[in-house]
Amino acid sequence: MPDRDVLRTVIGRLIANADAETAPLVHGAACAAGYLWRCGNTDCAAHNLRGQRYCDGCGWGSKGKPVGDLTPSNCIVPKRKWSALRRALVAHFAQLGGQMPDAVVFDYEGGPGWRGAEVKAMYGGRSEPIVGGFSDRDEHGDIAAALDGLTRFEKPGYCEHMRVVLSY
Ligand SMILES: [Zn+2]
Repeated sequence: MPDRDVLRTVIGRLIANADAETAPLVHGAACAAGYLWRCGNTDCAAHNLRGQRYCDGCGWGSKGKPVGDLTPSNCIVPKRKWSALRRALVAHFAQLGGQMPDAVVFDYEGGPGWRGAEVKAMYGGRSEPIVGGFSDRDEHGDIAAALDGLTRFEKPGYCEHMRVVLSY
């Protein structure tokens, strides 16, 4: 079992067996030990597992601030390429007709550049995996082209992460 799952199980069980008085002690001890971080959003204050990038409660980051665009690469990504991706994503979700995600996040772990990344749509703190991502050029023409544009600018590194905010 990966560490994260063990941690989730252990803390979950401790909290399940705690009451209103002892639960804050469990959370406090787990935070002090570095196993959890507490969201800095005063309207949220959810506890999240170590290593988790975004809060499960509200979607803010571990620094306690809302997270904007996270562009790939150490170089400055050309604005045109970045806005092409945002435009294509907004058009895609508008066409699906459901709720517009706040942001879409990409995790690169291999495959044909950014087109091969694992993708999740974020709605506040809730995230939904987009199965298969946007790797299919025929199905996702504009998004795939925008992702290829970013890959041509610079190939993603292993475990690289990017985030495109869709709603301002
Ligand atoms: Zn939060």
